[in-house]
Amino acid sequence: MLRVSSTQLLAPTIDGLGVVSDSQVKRATRHFVLLAAPGSGKGTFAQYAVEQFGYKHLCVGDLLRAEVAAQSELGKQVKPFMERGEYVDERITCALIAQHLLKIVAENGSFIIDGVPPSESSMRFLIDLFAKNNLTHQVSFVQFVLSDDASVQRIKGRVICQACAYVYNLHWVQPKINGVCDRCNSALTPRLADNEEITRKRLAFFHQHVEPLLAFAASSFKVKRFDTEKDLKELHAEYTEFLA
Ligand SMILES: [Zn+2]
Repeated sequence: MLRVSSTQLLAPTIDGLGVVSDSQVKRATRHFVLLAAPGSGKGTFAQYAVEQFGYKHLCVGDLLRAEVAAQSELGKQVKPFMERGEYVDERITCALIAQHLLKIVAENGSFIIDGVPPSESSMRFLIDLFAKNNLTHQVSFVQFVLSDDASVQRIKGRVICQACAYVYNLHWVQPKINGVCDRCNSALTPRLADNEEITRKRLAFFHQHVEPLLAFAASSFKVKRFDTEKDLKELHAEYTEFLA
């Protein structure tokens, strides 16, 4: 049984067996699915939720990049698509999502899914997966709104740590030392798929294929919308209010 009840998280502790820390005492178990254009700030939201509130970031791009880096069979299969900034076969992606999602839920974690394949069949797959595991009432969709031009500007300034995959933005979330990861001192480099031409292609794809899925999701789930054309401090205050 994979159902996570809030009473488990809120259960009182018996003297001598330890104390439940504040971060473990959540209002209720909640999970999020992020549907947003590239560069609109969903990664920043996810990093914040992970660091401040202990959410598990189920980032499809990271999972696929890890497979490529490990040179697994799956990694070899998906590498050319990723290098062209194209979407990977949704059957592969959905299987990866399910595998990692079930693991997180089994450990009583809260997940944030980032990178759902942009198709109605993938959306149905997810909805079925939630229903089978009694998660439907705990899931919300989150949308981030930003103009295409602003998205392109943000992506141009984005660099990623080669070792720990932490993402910085030279306009926004800067590392303390230029070109060096704050967390592990490894080198920061732009990602291959982050050039303007690929970004414009992905934005067009988003408007055509992903935006309609938000309307689809809104018929069964709550949808929270953030306008990310604000400074980071203001956004963090909104995220805290939403996540706490
Ligand atoms: Zn790092």
